[in-house]
Amino acid sequence: MTGCEDALVAFLLDQVDAAAVDHIRTCPRCRAEQPVVRALAVRLAADPAPTPPPTLAPRVLTAAGPLLARNAQGAAWRAAWPAVARALAAALIPLPAILVFDVALVRAIYSLLGAVLPHGLSLYLVVNHAALLALLLTLTYGAVPFLAARQARLLLQDGYRHG
Ligand SMILES: [Zn+2]
Repeated sequence: MTGCEDALVAFLLDQVDAAAVDHIRTCPRCRAEQPVVRALAVRLAADPAPTPPPTLAPRVLTAAGPLLARNAQGAAWRAAWPAVARALAAALIPLPAILVFDVALVRAIYSLLGAVLPHGLSLYLVVNHAALLALLLTLTYGAVPFLAARQARLLLQDGYRHG
């Protein structure tokens, strides 16, 4: 059974069914209100949807800008960090081999120089050579985090441009 409200709402929303028509026919109150509801429905349907002001979209984008940028940066970093981790791992994998090779090289040079030079002089040369190798290794591997960070920054900027 359709109540008064159901019947009037059906007329207001232009969704009239047989039950609503039956109710309007038998209910004096709804029969009296039905023309008002129909007029209201016609006026609501005639009212055009409001057009947003042209400044609304730029204002919304400006307000959401920092949040969108933070989201894009987080997404770009999540996309970039596996590449940075791979670069760091690739740089660190040969380190033990390089150290073993350098130690063998220094010992070979030491034994070679020991055959032709006085002990003190060959020790001095070998220590100098070992110190130079250690300095070069330190500089090379010290640069790896900076290069990886720079690569990540470039990837982030790239993500900004394309994201
Ligand atoms: Zn009624």
